[in-house]
Amino acid sequence: MALIVQKYGGTSVGTVQRIQSVAKRVLDTQAQGHQVIVVASAMAGETNRLVGLASEIHPNPFSREYDMLVASGEQISIGLLSLAINTEAEKRGLLKKGTAYFARPVLGYQLGIRTNSVFSKARIQAIDTSFLERELEQGSIPVIAGFQGVDLDQNITTLGRGGSDTSAVAIAAAIRADTCEIYTDVAGVYTTDPRDYAGARKIEKISYEEMMELASLGAKVLQIRSVELAAKYQVNLHVRSSFEETEGTKVVSLDQLGKEMEQVLVSGVAADRSQILLTLKNLPAEENLISQIFGALSDASVVVDVITQDVPSEGKMTLNFTVGGTDLASTRTVLQELLKDVPRELEIREDENIAKVSIVGVGMRNHPGVAGKMFRLLSDAGIGIKLVTTSEIKISCLIDAEKAKDAVACLHQGFDLDRLL
Ligand code: ADP
Ligand code: ASP
Ligand code: MG
Repeated sequence: MALIVQKYGGTSVGTVQRIQSVAKRVLDTQAQGHQVIVVASAMAGETNRLVGLASEIHPNPFSREYDMLVASGEQISIGLLSLAINTEAEKRGLLKKGTAYFARPVLGYQLGIRTNSVFSKARIQAIDTSFLERELEQGSIPVIAGFQGVDLDQNITTLGRGGSDTSAVAIAAAIRADTCEIYTDVAGVYTTDPRDYAGARKIEKISYEEMMELASLGAKVLQIRSVELAAKYQVNLHVRSSFEETEGTKVVSLDQLGKEMEQVLVSGVAADRSQILLTLKNLPAEENLISQIFGALSDASVVVDVITQDVPSEGKMTLNFTVGGTDLASTRTVLQELLKDVPRELEIREDENIAKVSIVGVGMRNHPGVAGKMFRLLSDAGIGIKLVTTSEIKISCLIDAEKAKDAVACLHQGFDLDRLL
């Protein structure tokens, strides 16, 4: 008998029919002798709808009220899913006499998913598993609302877009589940987004490190924080489709990866179109100004990505950095406040027309020349590079947004990742 956490994403619970099919899968898993905990996202499109309503009222609505609003999508889906599981259980004759329920819907605060108070990007700090353990002992199936928690002040918080993955992994870690299955609308993790490029190939096994890079570089199949937690607590992750029965992708530690997979130079290609490039020209070349800028952005919980600074000349310098689109309003506020006394010739430019294309692979550690090959491939395809950034296992290039699709295709082919036909 295994203890399995199953997380179902928005499309997997997108209609009543989909919810009924998930209910069957959950009960089938239990019938195989396993204990199951379910974590569900809001029905597809619901969170976007709620975000849209908030932005009709305020351009930058991230706050307690916003989190209360956007967390509500998951309440609907866990209600419906529990209803579907109980109805199916009744059909299968599983409900014991006198039992009122089989599956039990639980919101984040009911479970005691404790988070900090950074609204819309809250981090989980603790999870009380005693309630879950009691429920499992009675043979029932907890159906938990993903994406949400509660802070010390009893405010409802949310964990950032795609945060149900993180809820599922955090619960799996806290209760020491044997595995955490992430059910989604593709058959696993692919070498690149299969909706963007038809030659994408399903990966059988990928290391936490590579998955973390891919997730942070735009592969939204897993929220990055969920992969960080899985790596930290060694949670076995299995990303798979709720639409078919095939095996998906196992996300594992490096030593479980196997030698031949470690040899692969590039495991995946990702494109991120959500970043905005900020250029601060004629910035006074004062020693502590840069640290003040990034300190203030960090205090405002803005995640800064690619950063470059040119050599100062005549007391002036140019600073480039990128932020996520959802952080743009906070970034503007921080810069306006901090730079209000800076001389007039300071120029701040925002470029939304950019994409970051990246290649990721643990094999890069031991093979030189990968960056050179990437630049050559892009240049042969007529794609100009604006900025470059690297880490031990990834190389990212900022390019024009309209070239992103071509860049993915040329890198995918150039690094021999295409589906073997
Ligand atoms: P869910 O609602 O199940 O959480 P998401 O929409 O958040 O699903 O994530 C699944 C989507 O991630 C897929 O539909 C796919 O388009 C996208 N995606 C991006 N990169 C990848 C990749 N490398 N492998 C698989 N899917 C990817
Ligand atoms: N419903 C939330 C979102 O759309 C969380 C999730 O789907 O994981 O971002
Ligand atoms: Mg998701």
